[in-house]
Amino acid sequence: MQERNNNTCQSCGKKGQDGESLDVHHTYPLNNWIDDGEDPNDYPDDWLMTLDKSCHTKADAQDGDFKYPPKTE
Ligand SMILES: [Zn+2]
Repeated sequence: MQERNNNTCQSCGKKGQDGESLDVHHTYPLNNWIDDGEDPNDYPDDWLMTLDKSCHTKADAQDGDFKYPPKTE
């Protein structure tokens, strides 16, 4: 996985330390993407976010500011 966003959490600004890589969050759930019949390799970069573990957990729980963007056709 290549480094995105300078390996910095896009929510809280925390940086991955020394070889620790942060998580890549799929803002539109990857399972839904595949269910739509799409190829995971075609997943738009725009819908990826670099998040640290705690923010990723919140994002997956759809907590606070984290909402899936509308899927554009
Ligand atoms: Zn964070």
